[in-house]
Amino acid sequence: MDVKSILKKNNFTFEKKYGQNFLTDFDLLGRVVEKSGVNKDSTVIEIGVGAGTLTSEIAKRVKKVYGFEIDTKLKPILNETLSEFDNVEIVFQDIMKISMKEIEDKIGGKYTLIANLPYYITTPIIMRFIEEATNCEAIVVTIQKEVALRLCAEPKTSDYGSITASINAVGNAEMIEYIGREKFYPVPNVDSAVAKITIDKNKYEIKDMNAFKKVVKTAFGMRRKTLVNNLIKEYKITREEAENALTNLNIPITARGEELSAYDFIKLSEII
Ligand code: SAM
Repeated sequence: MDVKSILKKNNFTFEKKYGQNFLTDFDLLGRVVEKSGVNKDSTVIEIGVGAGTLTSEIAKRVKKVYGFEIDTKLKPILNETLSEFDNVEIVFQDIMKISMKEIEDKIGGKYTLIANLPYYITTPIIMRFIEEATNCEAIVVTIQKEVALRLCAEPKTSDYGSITASINAVGNAEMIEYIGREKFYPVPNVDSAVAKITIDKNKYEIKDMNAFKKVVKTAFGMRRKTLVNNLIKEYKITREEAENALTNLNIPITARGEELSAYDFIKLSEII
């Protein structure tokens, strides 16, 4: 399939505001889908189907694909590129305007999210599926390399941040593959990488998700401040109370947010 010719024939104009940088290397896309761990029994959600290149590599390997796409100009193109598949359903809607309940009711069971995400909503999409989804088993996303490094970072490194801790609380992230910018059409200003998050909601018992989210947000609120100082400010507690909370959990009182594991944050949220 020559996607570039199909796009040209349809006079398709790329919308920068939608983060439209398409992948047209079918070997690369096939490899990403293989590494995602899906099989003939799987259901997949794809966000941002574009010209349907990744969609077709997914459709070949799974039972059903639900694709979401904001740009209706892609309709005639997708009719052509996906014509051979009867297991693909495309919903032309803004994914950010559909509730998680609506998405999951439509799918009606377990699924994997596979996507080459539009860069401007990468983090909100990942966080929504991490925090709100109940049936999502894994998230395999092509994203800006720097963001992928954050998702997979270890504590005590500069890449480790609130998103890393949030992911580690309900799953595990791993790097699947690096993708140079030259692989995209049109070529963007940044390199990308594919990260896989395997969700395991039973990894830890989180008694109060909102309390956990608040303590993580607080810890990374002022990155250069110590955790104690961030806690004092947000929770209106004394220095002694903040230091006691950390000491009880064997966390040094000089620690900064990036030194705490997801488990440390869960325990801290229970006592703070
Ligand atoms: N999957 C295709 C590929 O790999 O070539 C396209 C990926 S491109 C990086 C991102 C796609 O997301 C674009 O087709 C864009 O129109 C679509 N998109 C952007 N914002 C969206 C939104 N809010 N909801 C659904 N799709 C969106």
